[in-house]
Amino acid sequence: MARESRRRVARLPKNPQPQEWLAKDLSLGYYASYKPFVMVDGEGVRCSLYVSGCKFACPGCYNAVAQNFHYGQPYTDAVQEQILADLDHSYVQGLTLLGGEPFLNTQVCLKLCRAIRERFGHTKDIWSWTGYTWDELQKESADKLELLSYLDILVDGRFLEAQKDLTLQFRGSSNQRIIDVPASLKENKVVIWSRLVK
Ligand code: SF4
Repeated sequence: MARESRRRVARLPKNPQPQEWLAKDLSLGYYASYKPFVMVDGEGVRCSLYVSGCKFACPGCYNAVAQNFHYGQPYTDAVQEQILADLDHSYVQGLTLLGGEPFLNTQVCLKLCRAIRERFGHTKDIWSWTGYTWDELQKESADKLELLSYLDILVDGRFLEAQKDLTLQFRGSSNQRIIDVPASLKENKVVIWSRLVK
């Protein structure tokens, strides 16, 4: 009987309080991998940086090894210069931040985003995935809000096994949204990406 009731309990990700998890306390400045010239992490040809460390612990996480803040290797100036050089190709549309959790690695992500805006302005776009929802991020720390301000697209929310749908564009479960960040910040409400198909 006890075993039966245990089986029925849904496994869910963790839910932090506002500003409970801070990059300054958690991030070691590591990244799990860097993949240049990929076509699956957003629109067009992209350069994807997977940072290390995430505390949401979503059951079924697509990249569970990168939940560990010690996983991978230190993010260095040389890595950043390589990313900027790869982005410089005219056929590359932009950068994608994934993880791990980019918003718990703001030391890495802010440094890169600032450099991209400085070198390329808005000729390259920046997408990021996050386990936080849009509403949660509005109550978060200054570093997370600064990172949000650099983004063009945010794919928000935990991965929920119960809502898993492999037919969705760029996301794994139907609670997650592809958000137009500049439009959402301007209108102070979530504006969904205009090119959403499904
Ligand atoms: S938020 Fe993303 S990286 Fe973090 S545990 Fe969930 S699916 Fe994995």
